[in-house]
Amino acid sequence: MIQLTSKNISLSSLAHLSAVTQTIMQGASFEDQVQKAKSKWNNKGSGLGQGAFADIKKTLLEMCVGVEICAYCEQNEATDIEHIFPKRLYPEKAFSWENYIFACSKCNTHHKSDKFKIFDPKNSVIETDITPKRGTFTKPPTEDSLFINQRIEDPMDFFELDLVNQQFIFTEKHPPGTRNYLKAKFTKEVLGLNTRATLIESRKKAVMFYISRLEKFVKASATTTHEELSNSINDDWKSVDHAKDFVQEKTRILSSIKKDILEYSHPTVWKELIRQRANLPKTNNLLLQAPEALTW
Ligand SMILES: [Zn+2]
Repeated sequence: MIQLTSKNISLSSLAHLSAVTQTIMQGASFEDQVQKAKSKWNNKGSGLGQGAFADIKKTLLEMCVGVEICAYCEQNEATDIEHIFPKRLYPEKAFSWENYIFACSKCNTHHKSDKFKIFDPKNSVIETDITPKRGTFTKPPTEDSLFINQRIEDPMDFFELDLVNQQFIFTEKHPPGTRNYLKAKFTKEVLGLNTRATLIESRKKAVMFYISRLEKFVKASATTTHEELSNSINDDWKSVDHAKDFVQEKTRILSSIKKDILEYSHPTVWKELIRQRANLPKTNNLLLQAPEALTW
C-alpha cells in the first residue's frame, strides 16, 4: 500500500455529494441515516448523480496505482468505489469525496466490507471493534480509525515489506502497544495482505520484474552505439530503430523502461526496494549506477 495523490473532482460533483449528504442527515435517527445512505448509494448513478459519479469514477481511476490497479492489494483490477469509513457506520461520509478509493471487489466486498476498528475515546492506545452486528445500529463515538487512510496517510510509515528475508509479507514498523503498530496490524489483517498466497507470490515476481528492468536501464544507459543499445535491452517488445538518431533512440528506450517500472502492479515493492537498498546488495549496486531511479 502506498499513499495516493488526491485529485479534485468538479465543483458540480462536490455540490451533488453535499446535497445528497444533507438529505441523508435529515434522517431522524442514526438507523434512518444509515438506511437512507444505503438506498441513496444503490441509486447513486441515476438522475443528477449520473454526471457526478462519472466524474468521480474517472478521477478515482486517475488516482489508482499502476494502470487501474486496486489501491489495497496492488494486484487486481480496481472496479469498486470503496468507502474508507464504511457507510454502514458513518452515513455522513457515504457521499464524501475524501472517503472514496478505487479498489477491487475482492478487497472491498470480501475482505474489508464493514469491518472497522477505532481507538477507545478514553484510552487512545486501546482498540475497539465497531463492526456492526446484524440489525443493530450504533453511532461510533469517534472517527479515530485504526484503518490506514491512504488518501491522507502514508502506509509506508506504518508497514515494512519483508524483502531481506524474502517472505514478502508486511510487518509492523512500530513496536507493539503503539497506535501505529495497531493501525498497521488491523489494516493488514482486515485486507488479508499477508494471508492471500497470490499476493505474496506476485510480490515476489514484482521484485524480479523491477530488478530485471533496472538492470536493462543500467545497461542501456551505458551504451554508445545503436548495436550496443539493441543488445542491452534484448526485449521482444522494444526494438531499436537504427535509422533514427542514436541519442533520441536511447532516450526513448530509457523512458520506456522507466514507464514499465512506474506502471507495474505492486508499487510498494518498488518503493521498498529503494527504501531498503542498504540491505539489498544487488539492488543497491544497480541504484548506484542509476541514481535517477531513486526519485521515480
Ligand atoms: Zn484489491
